[in-house]
Amino acid sequence: MLNYKIAIVGAGPAGYFAAQAFQKAQNESYSFSIDLIERLPTPWGLVRSGVAPDHQKIKSVSKVFEKIARESNFRLFANVELGKDVSLRDLRDAYDAVVLATGCSVGRKLGIKGEKLFNCISSAIFVPWYNAHPDFIKTEVDFNTDTAVVIGAGNVALDVARILSMDPDELETTDISDRALKMLKSSKITKVIICARRGPEHAAFTTNELRTLSNLTKTNICIDELDLEKASSRVNRLSGVEKDIENNLEAMRMIVNLRKKDIARNLEIKFLCSPIEIIGNKKVKEIIFADNELRDGQLFQTENTFSIKAGLVITAIGYDITAYSGVRFENDRILNIAGHVEHNIYVTGWAKRGPVGLIGTNKSDSSHVVELIIENLKAPKGFPGIDTILKSGHPIVDQIGWEKINASEVIAGQLAGKPRIKEDNWNSLISLGTSK
Ligand code: NAP
Repeated sequence: MLNYKIAIVGAGPAGYFAAQAFQKAQNESYSFSIDLIERLPTPWGLVRSGVAPDHQKIKSVSKVFEKIARESNFRLFANVELGKDVSLRDLRDAYDAVVLATGCSVGRKLGIKGEKLFNCISSAIFVPWYNAHPDFIKTEVDFNTDTAVVIGAGNVALDVARILSMDPDELETTDISDRALKMLKSSKITKVIICARRGPEHAAFTTNELRTLSNLTKTNICIDELDLEKASSRVNRLSGVEKDIENNLEAMRMIVNLRKKDIARNLEIKFLCSPIEIIGNKKVKEIIFADNELRDGQLFQTENTFSIKAGLVITAIGYDITAYSGVRFENDRILNIAGHVEHNIYVTGWAKRGPVGLIGTNKSDSSHVVELIIENLKAPKGFPGIDTILKSGHPIVDQIGWEKINASEVIAGQLAGKPRIKEDNWNSLISLGTSK
């Protein structure tokens, strides 16, 4: 029986699904020993620090991750940073295959004047901040404004807009960061406007996410019916309309019909406008937009402008790749052919295909990459393990250490009627995760 040593870098959904694919592929001829390496002291990636706190059901995929982690051929090495604590070259030389599942964590820039003003924040910072990510606890956000603008029409924009516009009491029973909840409770925001540069038929929201807006009992959702009518007639002129588009328009119509009365909180979705400048004196005060037009499906920016007075802007316009040395990058992803980077290095998840797709997309993606790796495997190198290439004394949070952190957070949560209370301090996480 041949035993291959596999290093997977990045303990998010793509990394876990790659580990699962290796576990499933084992047979009487070969087996795999999997080392999952993670920069943070905690695993689960975007399931812990990206998925919105009011979407606990989506987070239940972590049960699958823990099942994968309980297999005897799996080891977790958290608090180990690629390029700092271990080099890609060392991993490449030591392991039979290296799978990079490092994602995309840098927020894209609008590239307009005023984007650097205080309180114009990328979703790549705002989302991990409200999710208690230890790198973002010092983020400063000022909620002392009645209006917030969210730029972008994807699911991240929807997440952010919901969190800003819902009654914070509705977040009380979630695992949102305590700091963020406290600040949201003192927030003066009563209006959140999502601004989409194209039409309703082009929005990147998924239908399920749109539908869940109807669960917000204390927030009015506003979409201009005329925008939907115009979108429907544009769509009807096309031959063969995608089902997703029809479903999205239907979900938006449903939301419009649910309009409630006498509610102070509002979430509006505005279409066909592009931000051209953010104005303020040190802090965001106003955003100037240009009206856009669609002609034959093409987007045109017009000369017409309008402005929205708002003291907070969140940009949710997608992500760029997390770069590091040793691999080449192109178009928001690590340069690869069907997941193969070079030598015995492979890539999966957002780092492979760019920042698109739901958590489940990573499952099929990772299993295709693992199939390719298995086809390319040669004789095992017989590497003894990561311990021999890590600096001695480096504090590692292993699976047992992570289970201690996990149990401590869940117990703290149970006492407060929440799924967990996340520890957000690096040192506390490491000392809890390495305690004997
Ligand atoms: P996304 O789905 O790619 O949406 C990005 C949005 O930003 C698009 O509407 C895009 O408009 C807009 N945009 C890009 N550049 C812009 C600019 N310069 N000015 C104005 N608007 C701009 O990205 P995302 O929302 O970050 O989500 C990433 C992935 O995670 C997606 O696949 C998403 O479905 C997934 N996700 C899923 C969930 C969930 O299932 N609950 C939650 C969060 C994220 P154009 O279309 O015009 O380019």
